[in-house]
Amino acid sequence: MDALYLIKIGEIRLKEGNRAEFENRLKRDLKRRLSSFHSEVSSREGRYYLTVAEENSAEAEFALSRIPGINGWARAVKVRKEMDEIAEAAVAAVAPLVKAGAATFKVEARRSDKGFPLDSYGIARELGGVILEAFPGLRVDVHKPDATIYVEVRERAYVYSDGSLGVRGLPLGSGGRGLLLLSGGIDSPVAGYRLLSRGLALESLYFHAYPYTSHEAWEKVRDLAANLASFSGGMTLHTAPFTEVQLKIKRDALPEKTTLYLRACMMMAADMVARSRGLNSIVTGESLGQVASQTAENMRFTGSYTDYPVLRPLVGTDKEDTILTARAIGTYDISILPYEDCCVLFSPKHPILKADFDAERKAFDALGFREIVAEAVAAIERVELPFSFTPPRAIAVPR
Ligand code: ATP
Ligand code: MG
Repeated sequence: MDALYLIKIGEIRLKEGNRAEFENRLKRDLKRRLSSFHSEVSSREGRYYLTVAEENSAEAEFALSRIPGINGWARAVKVRKEMDEIAEAAVAAVAPLVKAGAATFKVEARRSDKGFPLDSYGIARELGGVILEAFPGLRVDVHKPDATIYVEVRERAYVYSDGSLGVRGLPLGSGGRGLLLLSGGIDSPVAGYRLLSRGLALESLYFHAYPYTSHEAWEKVRDLAANLASFSGGMTLHTAPFTEVQLKIKRDALPEKTTLYLRACMMMAADMVARSRGLNSIVTGESLGQVASQTAENMRFTGSYTDYPVLRPLVGTDKEDTILTARAIGTYDISILPYEDCCVLFSPKHPILKADFDAERKAFDALGFREIVAEAVAAIERVELPFSFTPPRAIAVPR
């Protein structure tokens, strides 16, 4: 038996001129992720249908839940355009919902085949009657039903119930490709996810300060990148060895400026990587006021070392909300593993809160970081993380 899914798309529907391009991106993304087995994608009247063999349904559902541009999806049943077959499918669709505790329902019918003997209202009424008969405890509630059964009569009849939510947003790549500064923390993976869901394909850049930061810290970042790969269909992770840069900062800069200067060096490196990889933006997990380095003044200073737009999707997001998203996408458990990321070499007691733009530009530029940053970028190691149906969860925490 085949499994059939009805896919609901979101914002793409609102696109006027280039809707076809958005739709093609979505279809390509879906086909690519399901390329390890046979699948069929078709679209009719603004609806998408995916058919896979039953044994691949778990993989298909995993992919459908993780593809940007898909608002939601539902497992559907396709039957002949006969009311008794439609009714049988509707009763079968209601059964698990009643079991899950639904006490009220409604039927929403759509008929695009005007030759069908009943109109939408007639279909809904008749099916409502059949369902009430099959489940005597159930009541109809057209305003706030616990369960909705959808019936669409087209070239065939489709029956389905409330489906699962998707990532929503826009298809991958419709916003081009950016560079995510990915640390082992909670924020940057969520920032990446937010922009992936807006259609920005991503590569990730991690600054590693081995041996001051451990191999486990790198593995944690790799696992975060692999998790993001499950939303983006794959992920390139660049690892820049930043030990020398950090040691120079420690040697040459006043303690209260070290964090700020490290961020500026990261921005400089990100600019070089974005340029050489042909990317269009830099993405960070910064949130206004969260830590000393994340003030508007400091962002102005660090941002001045690139002319790419620095996208900070969490800038106005409360930490609690970021944590909720991190849990939902499965990065939280990885992020809270104890391995330190980049800044262990210095943690000044009184970091600069509001960089004086002109003064800091002068002081930082006088220290001459460009060359040593360029060396770190030249020594970048690249790992390609493929799309996988089982993204790694948290790696084991040693006791
Ligand atoms: P996160 O939880 O994402 O680490 P944070 O709140 O700990 O964020 P910072 O450590 O100040 O904030 O880092 C701010 C941003 O700078 C991060 O969100 C990330 O985008 C980037 N960043 C910080 N450290 C690194 C690193 N070692 N490698 C790559 N990017 C980094
Ligand atoms: Mg951090």
